[in-house]
Amino acid sequence: MAKRVYQVWKGSNKFILGGRLIFGPDARSLLVTILLIVTPVVIFCVFVARHLRHQFPAYNAGYAILAVAIGFAIYVLALLFATSAQDPGIIPRASHPPEEELNFDSSISVDVGGRQTPSLQFPRTKEVMVNGMPVKIKYCDTCMLYRPPRCSHCSICNNCVERFDHHCPWVGQCIGLRNYRYFFLFVSSSTLLCIYVFALSAFYIKVLMDGEYPTVWKAMRHSPASVVLMAYCFITLWFVGGLTGFHLYLIGSNQTTYENFRYRADNRPNVYDRGCLNNFLEVFCSKIKPSRNKFRAIVQEEVTRPPPPRTHEPELDETTVDPRAKVEDDLELGGDLLKISQRRDMEEVEVDIHGRSSNGNVASDSEFSLASEPPIVRPEVRHSSWGRRSGSWEISPDILAMNSGVTEGRPHV
Ligand SMILES: [Zn+2]
Ligand SMILES: [Zn+2]
Repeated sequence: MAKRVYQVWKGSNKFILGGRLIFGPDARSLLVTILLIVTPVVIFCVFVARHLRHQFPAYNAGYAILAVAIGFAIYVLALLFATSAQDPGIIPRASHPPEEELNFDSSISVDVGGRQTPSLQFPRTKEVMVNGMPVKIKYCDTCMLYRPPRCSHCSICNNCVERFDHHCPWVGQCIGLRNYRYFFLFVSSSTLLCIYVFALSAFYIKVLMDGEYPTVWKAMRHSPASVVLMAYCFITLWFVGGLTGFHLYLIGSNQTTYENFRYRADNRPNVYDRGCLNNFLEVFCSKIKPSRNKFRAIVQEEVTRPPPPRTHEPELDETTVDPRAKVEDDLELGGDLLKISQRRDMEEVEVDIHGRSSNGNVASDSEFSLASEPPIVRPEVRHSSWGRRSGSWEISPDILAMNSGVTEGRPHV
């Protein structure tokens, strides 16, 4: 039976409702968070707000205290759900490394058979321009892609996430491009809910003191729930209030938590800062990007390419050949010079060489099967992926030296 994307998902996420909702691997902590919100609100409604119902007889305003508490709690839980149960901005993994970035790097040599030979390598970092300033982006081995600016790989979820802020254990999800707004609203609304519960619990104590319990001590003994709620809200306020303040600062200066912690020491200029007002508008008024992932889509079977025609000799126009093709052509040229060890049947090897040279394009003939390989690709690895029947081949150092001459500039390491 055909599988869906969420069923073969390589990240550590948990899916429910047939891939409609996506959570982090630690989604269970969400239950704790829900309890930490619901329990005090229930206690407040039963032991505090219920007694305040008749406190404001005009328009039954006392009932509003109860209604606001319930409505506010539902609003906070909805924001928690919106933060936690959707794609935070995961960049889908590539099925193979970016071949166009594959370069020979003569500066990194690999010991093959006692000889130093240059190795194939992806540049570890690239430089891109953001708002006229150069920004380094890194290659992700796991996702096999160059992370866009502000993207980072979450080690808990095992995904690259756009505008990665942090992985929040309380909501059990990454906080990124698509759910940061909900996360901030959740934290700030929780702060307001804390203040609301604290203030009305204190107010209830005051009401009791004005009535039958003239001292604070007597009033507190009459309503221990109010005391517990005030203590709980006081402690929680330090946490959620502090977090709200911190994120207000981050939004105002257009930073992520990750960037703030990572780059503070470097004293780097912030290339994303567009002025306080625009930074706030970016977070709260921009359209949330649609998810790049279709978790419920049917996984497409990989189409196996038909074998290349063996009689046709392609005409290569040297003037239109791109640098990558040049590398490959040189490799083809080098194919004639390859020293072939005699471990396998010679005829079979010849067929293999002919097959490749007639195709004129190594990369499209057989995919670089580097899925489980780190970016440094040693010559013998390439051979095993080029011609699986060819056994052990050796490239003479001269050819490798020649190929290293067509490298597209030095990578930034
Ligand atoms: Zn990644
Ligand atoms: Zn995460």
